[in-house]
Amino acid sequence: MTGFRRFKTVALMVVAVALWQGARHPAWGEPAGAAKASHGTTCDRAAFRLVVDVGHTAETPGAMSARGVPEFAFNLRLATLVERQLIDAGFARTILLVTEGAAMPGLARRVARANRSHADLLLSIHHDSVPDAMLEDWNYDGVPHHFSDRFKGHSIFISYDNPDRKGSLLFAKLLGDALKSRDLQYTPHYTEKIMGHRRRELVDAEAGVYRYDKLIVLRATRMPAVLLEAGSIINRDEELLLGTAEQQALISAAVIEAVESFCRARQPRSSVRVARPNPVTLPADPGNRQ
Ligand SMILES: [Zn+2]
Repeated sequence: MTGFRRFKTVALMVVAVALWQGARHPAWGEPAGAAKASHGTTCDRAAFRLVVDVGHTAETPGAMSARGVPEFAFNLRLATLVERQLIDAGFARTILLVTEGAAMPGLARRVARANRSHADLLLSIHHDSVPDAMLEDWNYDGVPHHFSDRFKGHSIFISYDNPDRKGSLLFAKLLGDALKSRDLQYTPHYTEKIMGHRRRELVDAEAGVYRYDKLIVLRATRMPAVLLEAGSIINRDEELLLGTAEQQALISAAVIEAVESFCRARQPRSSVRVARPNPVTLPADPGNRQ
């Protein structure tokens, strides 16, 4: 999330860039020769196009973890895994969206690139923190850092201003259910008064789906769009958990299950060949996070 205290950690940025460069697939573009075979009964995986958006940028990396790792590094690692596993599962048109630069111009570029892709779905991957007022001090590895062990768990956001609200809500519910079926608990704290202007309406208490209309990446994209906060990296235990391959695999498996279900429920655009007019007007929202 933006608006939280940030620290520049050059070495960690290098790690983030290395992770990005190590991704198996190009950061942007279509894979050549998409597979023809359809793996599902009614889901045309080869035609379905999902944008996996890496939240924030290397230059403006979002929140800082309890141990001083920028959120962007967590987002890039998980999104890259999700992209790879979707392609392995036959969703050959999956696109990993990595944006560069400052926050607001980066947001505009992010949305423009997503819209140009004519995707069937966008999933933006983030990791959570807390408002600055909740931060506590500690030392890790001899270096002072901030933490808050108050909240843990993932959360899912949609915007009712997205031109496909039903589709956004459908995927959000499917994702929440898939996470829940793997014993992953969402955090209910966004409904609490202490969250102030960050308080959100919980629109699905089973799946853990919140409404956040003003989020640009959700409201200005012309396809169903969902933002996943995969967990809290300001929570010291959860930061460690989110760093494990097991936890990343669990979250990634839930995403893939939800994408498969969504694809079955809604045919890919390129299969039905229907252009959906979705006019969007976009005021600047500098007060909102990416
Ligand atoms: Zn974020």
